[in-house]
Amino acid sequence: MTSADLVVIGGGQSGLATAHVALRRSLRPLVLDASPGPGGSWPSYYDSLTLFSPASFSALPGRAFPGDPDRYPVRDEVVDYLAAYAAGLDAEVRFGARVERVTADGGAFTVAVADGSEVRAPAVVAATGGFGTPYLPTLPGLESFTGRVLHAAQYRNPDGFAGARVVVVGGGNSAVQIAVELAGVANVSLATRRPLRFQRQRILGRDFHWWLTRTGLDTSSWGPRLVAGAVPVIDDGRYRAAIRAGRPDHRPLFAQVDGDRVWWADGTVERVEVIVLATGYRPDLPYLAGTGALDGQGLPRHAGGVSAAVAGLGFVGVERQRSFASATLRGVGRDAGFVLDGLLARAGRHAAGSGR
Ligand code: FAD
Repeated sequence: MTSADLVVIGGGQSGLATAHVALRRSLRPLVLDASPGPGGSWPSYYDSLTLFSPASFSALPGRAFPGDPDRYPVRDEVVDYLAAYAAGLDAEVRFGARVERVTADGGAFTVAVADGSEVRAPAVVAATGGFGTPYLPTLPGLESFTGRVLHAAQYRNPDGFAGARVVVVGGGNSAVQIAVELAGVANVSLATRRPLRFQRQRILGRDFHWWLTRTGLDTSSWGPRLVAGAVPVIDDGRYRAAIRAGRPDHRPLFAQVDGDRVWWADGTVERVEVIVLATGYRPDLPYLAGTGALDGQGLPRHAGGVSAAVAGLGFVGVERQRSFASATLRGVGRDAGFVLDGLLARAGRHAAGSGR
């Protein structure tokens, strides 16, 4: 059995930023990542993915995003950036190391890896994102659908969709981007429960993230409370224009699916060949089952990323765990600092308490 000061589970941006921040606090982290190589889930995202934040707002702590700071980098640039970030870290990052189970005993954790190895550490940060747990909503009759159903996690590009009748379900950035892309080759409807909300990407010549940062909204804990509900679709104008032009058309979510047919809310019925569920993700934390760290829905019980149930355990990369910036490239370093300070403070209190 090996040991470390901190085991970071997940070597995507959240895990790497956590390791960087841990090194700055003189801790010896070990990063365990199930993937064969660096980049977290970015290599699996769809081919056309372009960041919604400019390079200057897409960096992890300690390493600038290369190139023009005002441009919007594409997916593979993020993969390259994360590979360089991992290579530059003065910490061990083990790829191909899937954590199967974490157990807490005697004030420390035992982290069991699929290859049979174990690591012992006084602190663990879970940074495994959500890509392993795509959210599949219950939609009336969907189980009877005889066409093709896929989650946005499985979508790569429009190849194979030419001429198809497609319904994309969801009102977030991925849903709109995929629906507009597919509408270039297929007959696409974007179906949502609520009206779409758009956010102009640039305001008075500045990127939206510049304003978010300037106003303090990006990193304040009251930001998500102030603007509750769905994340807006960030748009340079092209998505609204495409939807206005009916490519794709936008309509309320269907009432029922039956076999190869979809019943729309206005009573019309039609044959559909493909349903794409762009319905988001949930934290992917199966290895924490049995620790008491998760609630009945498998979500972490936490305060700002510090486990409210298990001493020494933290989370980084949970959506809105502290602010709008949480779970984004620009936000995970800050959250990692908060979580590690919380774990260290608690460890200090325990040490002080046990010494008395
Ligand atoms: P991931 O990238 O998912 O990495 C998690 C890592 O954990 C993976 O390498 C995985 O192999 C590993 N892992 C999982 N389970 C285990 C286990 N049991 N043991 C060991 N390792 C494990 N953010 C932005 O800032 N700007 C954007 O423009 C942007 N666009 C996005 C577009 C899409 C389509 C999506 C889905 C998200 C986007 N995000 C964006 C949000 C966020 O930045 C990404 O989701 C990012 O990949 C999250 O990083 P992460 O490290 O938290 O998780």
